[in-house]
Amino acid sequence: MIEPHGGKLVNQALSPEARDTARSEAAKLPRLAVDSSRAADIRNIARGVYSPCEGFFGAEDLEAVITTSRLASGVPWTIPIIYDVPDPSRYEVGSTVAIYAEDRPGPLALLHVQQVCRWDKRRTAQAVFATTDSAHPGAARMMARGDHLLAGPIELIDDERAPFAQFNLFPAETRALFAQRGWETVCAFQTRNVPHAGHEDLQKTVLGLVDGLLIQPVIGAKKPGDFTDEAILAAYQALIENYFPADRVVLSILPTDMHYAGPNEAIHHARMRKNYGCTHIIIGRDHAGVGNYYGPEEAIARFADFPSLGIEPIMIRGDFWFCRRCNRVASERTCPHLAGEHIAFSGTTIRQMIQEGQAPPGEIMRPEVYEALSSVPRIFV
Ligand SMILES: [Zn+2]
Repeated sequence: MIEPHGGKLVNQALSPEARDTARSEAAKLPRLAVDSSRAADIRNIARGVYSPCEGFFGAEDLEAVITTSRLASGVPWTIPIIYDVPDPSRYEVGSTVAIYAEDRPGPLALLHVQQVCRWDKRRTAQAVFATTDSAHPGAARMMARGDHLLAGPIELIDDERAPFAQFNLFPAETRALFAQRGWETVCAFQTRNVPHAGHEDLQKTVLGLVDGLLIQPVIGAKKPGDFTDEAILAAYQALIENYFPADRVVLSILPTDMHYAGPNEAIHHARMRKNYGCTHIIIGRDHAGVGNYYGPEEAIARFADFPSLGIEPIMIRGDFWFCRRCNRVASERTCPHLAGEHIAFSGTTIRQMIQEGQAPPGEIMRPEVYEALSSVPRIFV
């Protein structure tokens, strides 16, 4: 089994016995309410998704990420995990804060405040997104955050799995599952889309190379026009049920925000999947990109900066389509035919057809996938 990132799978979730004590402790502490994005970060820290981090970044780790794309300890890291507050005067170093999630009763976690510091949002955004442009959804979100950071380890009290509990396996659990299935090589497929024929072809090509496939949609804040979490899960369930050998694939979610940080997010995605026990990750064209902020192969190229990352990227170059002459999914690297023979996997066209209640042709999308989508109350964010 591949080692967790930084060598240690973090577990900051309190045991059921310790939770009761923590709940009564929390009742006496200053309260801080967090939105769903911060709540997801807290759960991810506790469950080891962000291993080796045990809490939110302070000035030292943030500076190291900005200048070296590493933690202060030297471990590769490209997107800082930060807890921002607008007004730092309420928080004292050495104190503990009780954190409450908006949508849950009772305390979510305890944050042990080790540092309260200012941060340079503009400089951080430039390092993470290579832009501070307000039209970039990730950069805009970062620029809107509070001016101060609370740093320190957290302890998770409320270890809730919902929503989509049956698809929310934690890193320790996927690792146990892969071991139980005897998988030595596992490839992660990161997604925020419903599957078209190009995705399926790619996933099946990779399944010819590795023991197992982890299809792991990102569940969390997305941008308008993206597919809803329900739509993505329903579509993949239909695809796997009808077209994949069940014992070679695991469908499990990753509850975290999309940052649209392109190359840096590709590294971030790989690092998290390593903690889930994956040995490989598929990195395609414009991975985690948005608009024209990143070149189509910039995410692929970024891996060259991290030769000791541990998890291997399977780099898929090229633009894919269905070719009528080849009678299969093809790309400019595999197909000699003219564009007139090609049916493009255009996200825009697929979205438009679905919006108009029209099934995309079978060359583009499996009818079972379209049917599953049609049964979801809301398909787009
Ligand atoms: Zn062709």
